[in-house]
Amino acid sequence: MSSVDARANILLVDDRPENLLALEAVLEPLGERLVTATSGEEALRHLLRDEFALILLDVQMPKLDGFATAELIKQRQRTRDVPIIFLTAISKERGHVFKGYGAGAVDYVFKPFDPAILRSKVSVFIDLHRKNQEIRRQAELLRVAQLAEQRRESEERYRQLADSMPQIVWTAHPEGGSTYLNARWTEYTGLSVEESLETGWRAVLHPDDRERMSAVWRRSLETGERFDIEYRFRGRDGAYRWHLGRAFPRRGEHGEILEWVGTATDIDDAKRAEEADRFLAEASEVLASSLDIRLTLRAVAQLAVPRIADWCEIDLVGDDDVPHPLAVIHADPRKVQLAEELHRRYPLDPDSTAGPVHVVRTGDPELVPELTEEMLRLGARDAIEFELVRELGLRSWMCVPLITRGRPLGAIALASAESERRFAEADLRLAEELAHRAALAVDNALLYREAEERAQASRVLETIGDGVFLLDRDGVIRLWNPAAAAITGLLAEWVVGRPAEDAIPGWTTVAQRVPIADAPGPTAAETIPLELQGAERWLSIAGVGFEDGTVFAFRDLTEERALEELRQDLVATVSHELRTPLAAIYGSALTLRRPDVSPDEDLRNQLLAVIADESDRLAQIVNDLLLASQLDAGTAHTAPSRCDARGLAEHVIASARTHLPGSVELDLRAPKKLPAVRADPGQLRQVLANLVENGVKYSPEGGLVQVSLKAAERALRISVSDQGLGIPASEQRRIFEKFYRVDPNMEHGVGGTGLGLYICRELVRRIGGRIWVESTPGRGSTFHVDVPLAARSRKKAREKVNAAGARRRP
Ligand code: ADP
Repeated sequence: MSSVDARANILLVDDRPENLLALEAVLEPLGERLVTATSGEEALRHLLRDEFALILLDVQMPKLDGFATAELIKQRQRTRDVPIIFLTAISKERGHVFKGYGAGAVDYVFKPFDPAILRSKVSVFIDLHRKNQEIRRQAELLRVAQLAEQRRESEERYRQLADSMPQIVWTAHPEGGSTYLNARWTEYTGLSVEESLETGWRAVLHPDDRERMSAVWRRSLETGERFDIEYRFRGRDGAYRWHLGRAFPRRGEHGEILEWVGTATDIDDAKRAEEADRFLAEASEVLASSLDIRLTLRAVAQLAVPRIADWCEIDLVGDDDVPHPLAVIHADPRKVQLAEELHRRYPLDPDSTAGPVHVVRTGDPELVPELTEEMLRLGARDAIEFELVRELGLRSWMCVPLITRGRPLGAIALASAESERRFAEADLRLAEELAHRAALAVDNALLYREAEERAQASRVLETIGDGVFLLDRDGVIRLWNPAAAAITGLLAEWVVGRPAEDAIPGWTTVAQRVPIADAPGPTAAETIPLELQGAERWLSIAGVGFEDGTVFAFRDLTEERALEELRQDLVATVSHELRTPLAAIYGSALTLRRPDVSPDEDLRNQLLAVIADESDRLAQIVNDLLLASQLDAGTAHTAPSRCDARGLAEHVIASARTHLPGSVELDLRAPKKLPAVRADPGQLRQVLANLVENGVKYSPEGGLVQVSLKAAERALRISVSDQGLGIPASEQRRIFEKFYRVDPNMEHGVGGTGLGLYICRELVRRIGGRIWVESTPGRGSTFHVDVPLAARSRKKAREKVNAAGARRRP
């Protein structure tokens, strides 16, 4: 209704103001609103602006007459139905009237009109108008009512739809108060809609999500932005499940928020799967972080609480084959104490048919989604155990075996308590995956430890002084340590991978003599000679058999063996060498003492001379032994001084000549003037005496033994040559070794201790000189000794050499 005014509008149109005035006067008493127009155009303008209940239209008007005006009025949608009463003074003929009706007139009033009739006609039309209006209004009311009904129906449908949805659906006031919750809500939470609307959904929201949820909701309410968050709702079973909450504002025509429409979708499975993935990833990281099995497993248990359970216990099988708790984890330390006390008082029963012991024994996991008091009672050994277990508040329980290398190593037990979680198959799978990864980590740690032990063993083998090698069951060399290579001269790269009989010369024969024990421990090793690289090496060797073959350990006894031989040589030689002079002395003494023989003066003197000479020789041997042992021990004292080699040589030759065999000639060749040498005079004399004595001794056929002295730039060379037996080239180096004799069995009848040349070499070495031999067997030998010159002599000798050089130059 456009007008607030209850009066109806009546448009009066006449080109003559007096007529209009008259009309106004006639219609005034009706009390309606009269609008006048003096032309058709003006009338149309009024009609554009206002709504009229009736038009009184003069027919005869200049320009736009009444009919034309009526036609225009009829053409317009808005004014088409406004009744028109034509007023005319002249057109009383039929044709005229007809035209008027054709133009939409409802009546004709002829001037002059009866005011009462006109008034009553007008009031009829006004009544009619009013009635029409009333009907329109009622129609409108009806329409509104119908609309309301429709909306109610649609809301009902909407509600039914919402109720049949698997998600939780809710609506709320623009300010946030809940107005509706669907059936799923009641079904999930177990709360009636009424109590929920009153107390709000916060009652079932997880305490940890409350603050976050409130903040996000507040923000949406303030900004009108979409609400979107993940949170946990407690279900009627007491367990929380993750939901994805979303809400949009429903807005009115002008953008104002009419209400919030929200949903909460259960995403718990997906969320848990995602959480499980994350948990496993973190667990794997922890598992890989250390090689200490116990530490690692404890860290994993720590990680499991409260992520996947409220309790986590890891048991490891001990030496007694029964699992023992390694880690008991709960968020609350007091509860841990309780559990530990339980374990102390009631250790795991090795015969139990459920729980970790059973899981370890069978290798099968166990899942108890709902732990009832009855179960606890049945599982407890007595009332106290039952009470203790009950106090732990366990709701749901599962246990999975830790299996490494096909052998159960322990078990991981997980339980829910205050979180009210119920473990399902998916949780068991997660626990199994965790156990699988933990087992792998344990395996790795074990492997590492073994590898480390092996590495340590191999480091030991690398550095040990004993040769160690390993033969597999086929007799192929699998390991050959550096000492084995050093002792035998056979490198690992040559021998490893080859059969011992190919790689080690003479192994086939040797192997039969090597003692092999069944278990490591003291074994009497056998000393066995092995021909290695042209030399004989004595090895003390023993083996230990094991699963995959035999390990041999050996030690080089060549040196010890040589020493042993030396000792035996010494005893043999010395006793022989001592026996000869002793026999001579003993024989002479016996002869002198015989009562039946009275020796003449000559014989007496001869016998006494033998006794004196042989005693001398005995003393000489003892002196040599003593000196040799002093030289060995490094206790022999050498006092080098400036001395005259020629004088010493003359003295040695003179004393040798006193008991020279007739067939030997002894001779000295030396320049008159020789530079002084730096040596211990007594020791240099002994060296010369030894060499001269050998020259004479090893010339059994006689010949010339010549001592010659010659000065060089740095040294004086003393050479002692003979024409005797000579020395084979292969022996020329060895004759300087202690007790070494070319002819130990005295096939040539020449005896000795084998100490002389050894003593010579050691004494010459001590004054910084050199000794060597040149010899051709059968044609004699020449021993050379270079003795360093005394300091001043060295200078002089150099000058002399230089001068000689200058002289030679032209
Ligand atoms: P020995 O007491 O046996 O003479 P030496 O140490 O003096 O001990 O000599 C070692 C060996 O060297 C002798 O046994 C001998 O075989 C050999 N020898 C030493 N001097 C001569 C030499 N002038 N002619 C031949 N052989 C020699």
